[in-house]
Amino acid sequence: MIRENLLEVEEKIRLACERSERNPDEVTLIAVSKTKPMEMIEEAIACGKREFGENKAQEMKEKCDSLPEDIKWHFIGHLQTNKVKYVVGRAYLIHSVDSYHLAEVIEAESVKKDVISHILIEVNVAQEESKFGLKTDETLSLVEKVAKLPHIRIDGLMTIAPFVENAQNNRSVFRELRKLSVDIKEKNIDNVSMNVLSMGMTNDYEVAIEEGATYVRVGTAIFGERDYGKL
Ligand SMILES: *Cc1c(COP(=O)(O)O)cnc(C)c1O
Repeated sequence: MIRENLLEVEEKIRLACERSERNPDEVTLIAVSKTKPMEMIEEAIACGKREFGENKAQEMKEKCDSLPEDIKWHFIGHLQTNKVKYVVGRAYLIHSVDSYHLAEVIEAESVKKDVISHILIEVNVAQEESKFGLKTDETLSLVEKVAKLPHIRIDGLMTIAPFVENAQNNRSVFRELRKLSVDIKEKNIDNVSMNVLSMGMTNDYEVAIEEGATYVRVGTAIFGERDYGKL
């Protein structure tokens, strides 16, 4: 089932790239494996998948430590400062930095482990109260401040769009994140590349790609519905 699902999602990514005249090499599919057992991840690995997304620090640590080293782990959840130690040195990219304090803790842990941490700044473009992330107009000043931390590189921006019945309704959200990243990129800030846009989930990843996503984070369409009851 996972193989068929992956093929279907990859085909839809290819078609979305075609529609928007983008090179499919610019878009990377992150298989969001949160709550899913090791066997399902191993099945996806057997299909050639190497990029996985997790939203709980300890869960990511456990999966990371027991699966092959060449896997890229994307941390996509809200990160509490006391859990940073599990993520730094393991995550290929932390998608969800939304405060200077969190960045400082990531910096300190990166110094301790002698690594450079690559991060994205999470922006709550749609300004949903239930979601983490910065307001659009607060983003540049945080980027400027975090960019001064020597063990952190800001690769781009991330957003979680609202849950909507019709994915087209999120197009403006994705467009706004893209515009914000272009505006920040133009400032040419040291340690800030702004080449990465992490946006789009099962319900809206095709629209996100049409609007410039470089990472789409897809869980349900690959692994099926999540069962939070079992945890
Ligand atoms: C769970 C999650 C996803 C994947 O959601 P699906 O709708 O299952 O594709 C993507 N991004 C984040 C931040 C998530 O927490």
